Amino acid sequence: MTDSELPSQPQNFALWREVQDTRVRTRLGGIYYLLAWLLTWLFCSVPASMLGSGLLASAFFALMLALRLLHRPPAQTSGGCLQLWIDRHWYLIYLTALGWGLVHAWVLVDTRFEPSRLIATLSTIAFSTAMAFNFAMRKVRCVVAILFLYLPGLGVLLTQREEQQALLITLAFYLSYLLLALNRSHREYRNTLTMEQQLIDQRERYDRLSRTDSLTQLGNRLQFNSLFPALVANVQRQGGQLSLVLLDIDFFKRINDEYGHSTGDQCLYAFAERMRNVFRRDSDALLRLGGEEFGVLMMNTPLEQARELAEEFRRDLTSRGLEIQGQILPMTASLGVGSFDARRDGNAETFFKRVDDALYLAKAEGRDRLVLASLD
Ligand code: GH3
Ligand code: MG
Ligand code: MG
Repeated sequence: MTDSELPSQPQNFALWREVQDTRVRTRLGGIYYLLAWLLTWLFCSVPASMLGSGLLASAFFALMLALRLLHRPPAQTSGGCLQLWIDRHWYLIYLTALGWGLVHAWVLVDTRFEPSRLIATLSTIAFSTAMAFNFAMRKVRCVVAILFLYLPGLGVLLTQREEQQALLITLAFYLSYLLLALNRSHREYRNTLTMEQQLIDQRERYDRLSRTDSLTQLGNRLQFNSLFPALVANVQRQGGQLSLVLLDIDFFKRINDEYGHSTGDQCLYAFAERMRNVFRRDSDALLRLGGEEFGVLMMNTPLEQARELAEEFRRDLTSRGLEIQGQILPMTASLGVGSFDARRDGNAETFFKRVDDALYLAKAEGRDRLVLASLD
């Protein structure tokens, strides 16, 4: 999955990350339950006479391993899907842990396991340690899984406390250590997640800033350069209509000369604000392409509709001008408007040129007018 496909909402990012971590960690661990059981069984005093139960337990751990591997994370990154996957995967973790806990208890009571008892006890310690360090993303669930692993064996040892006192005390001490370690791992996991989220947010903020014009808060040229070819490619692939409106303020230099650069800046901001009021659809991309040149990319918009809106903008600007600090400054703009034509425009560049030529014509014909891009 690429960065652009990462879930952007913090809550979903945390869940998505947890899914990835849980998957990687269960994939690694599942095989060891099966191996530990096989060693415990094969090194007991009479493995051949326990063929039935030996194979049954092997089948159980093999099944758990297969289910862990087959339970693939969801393709969607919606919170609900991710949460459901995590919940189901935890059932597998619980089942495996409880299965092992019961096997350990069985090994402790059944004298046929005398020679391999140490293998099972060491494995219980290893599995619960791995649990505390690898599955600390969910503290309560992890405690439950560790108890599933530990308690059946401890229960048996309690009934044999006369002869097993030392082991019982050692295991109980170790359990308390594990619970403390789990607490710390959980905190560390959460901190790492928060830091990662902050890094992603920061990168997104910088990315947004680098694509935004600081004066008008419209998209800037960089944004246009990446968006425009992508939209054209999309229309070429899937059809639909893409219209482009290019706007250039008339005689803007005079405004600067007459009122000063700072007023000129305020005019540019007011012009952008007017654009926001007219081109209001969420799918309209409003851009400042440079100096006093602006653009509107209108997705799924036929030429006639784009022309109507652009003409409304022009007429409104001509009749009302711009209000700067309570003063009305007369202002007009020239506009070129065109729609992408698959037969006429080979690529984004030729489409842009066609609309830019129309804008040039609007200037040449006397300004304060709209010219449609020619299809000749
Ligand atoms: P035309 O009708 O031919 O477009 O005339 P014009 O004066 O608008 O065009 P020209 O390209 O000659 O001048 C553009 C002016 O826009 C010159 C420049 O000082 C001004 N300008 C460009 N960017 C900014 C800006 O960020 N702030 C201000 N205040 N002025 C700017
Ligand atoms: Mg101009
Ligand atoms: Mg210009």
